Amino acid sequence: MYDFESFQSCDTDDQKLENESVNQAIVENPVTFHCGQCNTVWADSRGICGEATSSNSLICLEVTQDVTINSGREWSLDGLFSACVYNTLQCAGCLCLMGVILYSTPQHLTALRNLFLLKKDKMYCYIFSTGQTVKASTLNFNVTPLGERVSELRQLIQETESHLSNVSAVMDDTRTNEATSSVQSTS
Ligand SMILES: [Zn+2]
Repeated sequence: MYDFESFQSCDTDDQKLENESVNQAIVENPVTFHCGQCNTVWADSRGICGEATSSNSLICLEVTQDVTINSGREWSLDGLFSACVYNTLQCAGCLCLMGVILYSTPQHLTALRNLFLLKKDKMYCYIFSTGQTVKASTLNFNVTPLGERVSELRQLIQETESHLSNVSAVMDDTRTNEATSSVQSTS
């Protein structure tokens, strides 16, 4: 049985980066994520698609080969991931359990299915631009919420459609004029 309780034990690091722009500058640049115990590389910023704040975990599309997916499926009857079926993830270096992949979940966790959830309080980040290492728990990897991006895209599509309808209106006018002029020339 996986220890879900430690998911909830949010690291109360008092050095949290209060400056949002500093945070943004870091998380938008190349970062690698390492085991806090043995330094094994678990993931890098290309594979990160956000963070699940309720479980204090990074959400990753991909991880390195040094993250072992344990074969036995497990399930949880209570707690944060109650009624979920999942596989645990293990660091290949020191064998610590550091996350899960959820397979079957209740409706409210559907968005997290088949993604890697890595515990933030078990890892640190190496920031390429500055050569610094910081605890992952000091950074906020929440990217722009999907909802906002979808509405931005919708707006773009609407604008494009209105441009297109303007263009086709102009073309229709041109065709009508051509037709009219051809009729006039034959008469
Ligand atoms: Zn390790």
